[in-house]
Amino acid sequence: MSIQTALGSKFAGELIGPDDPGYEQARRIFNGAIDKRPALIARCTGPEDVQAALAYARERELVVAVRGGGHSASGYSCCDDGIVIDTAPMKHVQIDVERRTGRFGAGLTWGEFDAATQEHGLAVTGGRVTHTGIAGLTLASGSGWLERICGITCDSLISAQVVTAAGRVLRASADENADLFWGLKGGGGNFGVVTEFEFRLHPVGPIVYAGMILHPRAAAGALLRFYRDFMAEASDEVGGGFSLLTAPPEPFVPEEGRGQPAAGLIVLYAGDPQEGERVLAPLVEWGEPWLKMVQPMPYTAVQQMLDPAHPWGIGYYAKADYMHELPDEAIDAMIDKVGQAASPFTGMHLVPLGGAFARADRSTMALEAPNVPWYYMCMALWMDPDQAEHETTWARALMQTMRPWTVDKAPPNFISKDEGPGRLRASYGDEKFEQLVALKDKFDPDNVFSLNQNVPPSITPG
Ligand SMILES: Cc1cc2nc3c(=O)[nH]c(=O)nc-3n(C[C@H](O)[C@H](O)[C@H](O)COP(=O)(O)OP(=O)(O)OC[C@H]3O[C@@H](n4cnc5c(N)ncnc54)[C@H](O)[C@@H]3O)c2cc1C
Repeated sequence: MSIQTALGSKFAGELIGPDDPGYEQARRIFNGAIDKRPALIARCTGPEDVQAALAYARERELVVAVRGGGHSASGYSCCDDGIVIDTAPMKHVQIDVERRTGRFGAGLTWGEFDAATQEHGLAVTGGRVTHTGIAGLTLASGSGWLERICGITCDSLISAQVVTAAGRVLRASADENADLFWGLKGGGGNFGVVTEFEFRLHPVGPIVYAGMILHPRAAAGALLRFYRDFMAEASDEVGGGFSLLTAPPEPFVPEEGRGQPAAGLIVLYAGDPQEGERVLAPLVEWGEPWLKMVQPMPYTAVQQMLDPAHPWGIGYYAKADYMHELPDEAIDAMIDKVGQAASPFTGMHLVPLGGAFARADRSTMALEAPNVPWYYMCMALWMDPDQAEHETTWARALMQTMRPWTVDKAPPNFISKDEGPGRLRASYGDEKFEQLVALKDKFDPDNVFSLNQNVPPSITPG
């Protein structure tokens, strides 16, 4: 019997197995260090396809991986020998401009999402690299340049359509399957395959005052101190972040800076561009940068700014932590440690929180985002596989260096496999973690969805 027959005549999507010509391409995910060979990739066009794929997997006891944009650092969205339920073909968009809401297929990337919503000058806090999927990011992290004004991504979630492990298609919202809705906001892919997200949309752009400023690394300490003090007084409209990175060896960087250690600011004012120019002037006028590209620009261009530094297929390992304070000693320690990375792609990004991020009622969701002023993401990236071990070890060491100033919580998406289950539990806190286990018992008692930052059911499936 062919796989297509086994899946049923209702399966409308594409099935790709190891003997098919598109297999090598289809099994790849963003992280080039992940090399897994699934038995089948089921590219699903809607909830019925997902139901069929889940039934097929259940009958054959296949491991299930679920994929949106394929950005999982730990490679959870692919597997060896099992089935990949790929939601990428689901790209429908339905926007109600009057009500400022929209329904979006789970397979959209943030680039596609932003392009559709910005046609109406609307947005939701989205990932900082355009090829990240809306699905994985919304379900378990949700940080982006707009979080100080719009909150974390799932703060704007109104409802989701989900196919559960048992193959039921449910809508989850504050009024319908409210417990599942609570779990989807931060609990990751533990409870089902999301096929559609409904968001509340916020007026942003289409033109914002924004850009990038690049200084020599020698200025990093003074620049970050200035930025820290500036952000302590900034209004919610001010977004962006500080980066320790290598200046790209590109013609738009002055020759002296090309390929050199640098300190950068991404600045963004999510309001009137003229007001933005006035408000951001102290950051723009500070010091003697190599490069200053700050002007009114499309919000979609801001979202694309980090794309060239994150090419698909690069080796990738990430760490993130919330910081309860950013004293001078933390700044100096971080700059010193980042100087020890070897790959020119590796960098560290420091993001100011506060504003809408801080005001959200976290009891309405599984995600536990502490009310702290800063958050760092440390991105170890390499093209040369020989650098993998050095960069990974470096990222782990950086995390230890930052310990005195961090809280023991991270957005689940940034908890890597090697950190162990204790880190996940600590990030949710005991009470929320127990609530998540109860939800897992209800919606996925056999742990069908195990390839994720896994919340195991209370009784391990035998
Ligand atoms: C270069 C890069 C930049 C990033 N930038 C940011 C950032 O700015 N802000 C931020 O918050 N995070 C960021 N991340 C982390 C990102 O949020 C996570 O990696 C996230 O999982 C990516 O979502 P995805 O759909 O692309 O992932 P995938 O790899 O496709 O999926 C990851 C996991 O999400 C779950 N999942 C995916 N699709 C579905 C679905 N349809 N239904 C149910 N579960 C599903 C599954 O458990 C899956 O294992 C970044 C990651 C990378 C690699």
